[in-house]
Amino acid sequence: MQPLQVAARKGNRLGRISCMFQFEASGLSEAFHTAPIPAKACHMNAPFQQSQQGDLPPLQVLIAAPRGFCAGVDRAIEIVERALEKYGAPVYVRHEIVHNKFVVDSLKAKGAVFVEEVSEVPDDVPVVFSAHGVPKSVPAEAEDRGLDYLDATCPLVSKVHRQAERQLEKGRHIIFVGHAGHPEVIGTFGQVPEGNMTLVETVEDVAALDLASDTPLAFLTQTTLSVDDTAEIIAALKVRFPAIAGPKAEDICYATSNRQAAVKAMAAGCDLVLVIGAPNSSNSLRLVEVAERCGTTSKLIQRGDEIDPAWLEGVGTVGLTAGASAPEMLVREVIAALSQWRKVEETPIVTAEEKMVFKLPRQLVD
Ligand code: SF4
Repeated sequence: MQPLQVAARKGNRLGRISCMFQFEASGLSEAFHTAPIPAKACHMNAPFQQSQQGDLPPLQVLIAAPRGFCAGVDRAIEIVERALEKYGAPVYVRHEIVHNKFVVDSLKAKGAVFVEEVSEVPDDVPVVFSAHGVPKSVPAEAEDRGLDYLDATCPLVSKVHRQAERQLEKGRHIIFVGHAGHPEVIGTFGQVPEGNMTLVETVEDVAALDLASDTPLAFLTQTTLSVDDTAEIIAALKVRFPAIAGPKAEDICYATSNRQAAVKAMAAGCDLVLVIGAPNSSNSLRLVEVAERCGTTSKLIQRGDEIDPAWLEGVGTVGLTAGASAPEMLVREVIAALSQWRKVEETPIVTAEEKMVFKLPRQLVD
């Protein structure tokens, strides 16, 4: 336990976030942080926990902080909730607003309808674009059809979009570090005309790039990558193309970096790390990788009822974190699930404090 506490103190000192985007939080999506755990998750544990917890073997649960919702996810959910209040149901949402089934299902229950393309949105119904960002062709299509649209693209993703435009204006071909097929990558590629951006996913991809040595180049990155992998890829780009331009730091966002740092601080002291997140959530998958690289078995779970009690055999300390699109109530659900089998002792491992809040679109501000 001692090394972990030292790491947490060090992180507290170094990790405070200064924020140029701070605005007053409206708290509409607060329900995801505080709402009661659904009966599905609680049924097995409540009476059992009260009567028999004292007889159960102990389990240390280290809870990473920061974890869970980031400012971009909070904002995206609030945009859908406020749109439902302003326009009434249904409000259409193009693509999962954030990659979390629980969040999506909760918004569906309030009247949101999720589709993959603007062509599926009926006339005269508002549509929200997801936090991952969209190609320029998507708002253009909505405008052509006269649809009211709200852009929930995270401002940190929009920042990368503007960087892509600027690099193109300077006549540079863009090397984009990211994961093929991820909606954020599709959205960023859609900011520039086809043929002006090339995707690399690995150091090997950098070696295989077929570009003339005098091609003016710039690199940009997806916001939810592994900090360590991305540093290696950027280093390889700079060795192969010494004149390549790029941002001062890679574009990996504060939330992704902080959640990975928190897992690094606690993983070596754990026998198992549980990451709450969806299989299509890039930042959640990266947290599993970070824990595994620290030599600790890690499992990605979406809900408490996915925990296999066999995972706890011989385990004294579990680390727990949540990807940026997983609400805090699922953290409580997982702890409730663990409490079926073990007497849980919770210890927070705090490596940074986050105060970021993003402004809502103008149409939704009273
Ligand atoms: S993970 Fe980062 S880039 Fe993605 S929505 Fe959150 S703050 Fe924005």
